[in-house]
Amino acid sequence: MNKKVTILIPAYNEELDLPKLFARLVKLGKTVDDCRFEFLFVNDGSTDKTLTIIKDFAKEDKRVSYINLSRNFGKEVAMIAGIDHVDSDALVIIDADLQDPPELIPDMIRLWREGYDDVYARRTERVGESWLKRTTSSLFYKILQRSTRIPIQRDTGDFRLLDRRCVEALQQLRERERYTKGLFSWIGYSKREITYVRDARAGGETKWNYFRLLNLAIDGIVSFTTAPLRFSTALGMIISLFAFGYIVYLVVRTLLFGSDLAGYPSIMAVVLFLGGVQLLSLGIIGEYIGRIFNETKRRPLYLIDEYHATKGKQ
Ligand code: UDP
Ligand code: MG
Repeated sequence: MNKKVTILIPAYNEELDLPKLFARLVKLGKTVDDCRFEFLFVNDGSTDKTLTIIKDFAKEDKRVSYINLSRNFGKEVAMIAGIDHVDSDALVIIDADLQDPPELIPDMIRLWREGYDDVYARRTERVGESWLKRTTSSLFYKILQRSTRIPIQRDTGDFRLLDRRCVEALQQLRERERYTKGLFSWIGYSKREITYVRDARAGGETKWNYFRLLNLAIDGIVSFTTAPLRFSTALGMIISLFAFGYIVYLVVRTLLFGSDLAGYPSIMAVVLFLGGVQLLSLGIIGEYIGRIFNETKRRPLYLIDEYHATKGKQ
């Protein structure tokens, strides 16, 4: 059976890595029998020559299609833009910077043929990532996993093969603050992991700094679970309980022993602590309200400047 597999590559300022990636992908195309490939590039508002390079690929190779977004929307949105334009039997999402080795794709296809719907690559080792990045990411996974019942795959990026069913499921998830890794877990279907060693970036530099990673972490948790709201409710209840006990204690003590009017430092401490807790709770509520606000605007997720489909589309 001749199945069609789309390779989706979101690219933002990747002029250095794209030619190398494409060469490896083309080589790969020759090793997999009875599969037709489509290479779908999503140019996410790059400011370098990325788009020109992609257009050159398309001229050379009929299997190349591309979407040029109207500006930089971020990887999460670039991915859904690509996913929306997939009509194949399976989809593989791969980073443009060669951190995900394309050579894993035949293995993914083999497992997919065995009947798995979502074959994801888990990295066993991270080359070229700092200790701080590894620790913070491990902490994040722990917090996220504790706060939701849906199993989240650890050390797993967006590098994976998805069956058509998964693609169709993802196309239905139109939320704005996208945490795609969570969405892969949410849709379910039969999952299978393969492991690999994640390389350091081939060229250029990562677009993630710690500020963006922190944002992604907050997005991940807030878009996935309402546990933080629970947490602030619980905290409020515990503190109120303590405060109530303390008041009872104060009243009893004053009745028995009279009042001595000391305790300015303790009052300050309590006031400051409560102020902090209130701000935190407001912030948590605000995170959710902000998302409600953004969702209610009902703007399209992305705008396309140009779409070039492969010739001879079936
Ligand atoms: N990317 C994108 N839009 C962005 C940022 C990144 O499409 O705004 C793409 C980028 O070109 C690459 C992938 O997303 O193919 C992963 O980006 P990066 O390597 O910067 O992330 P990291 O590997 O550090 O998680
Ligand atoms: Mg990368």
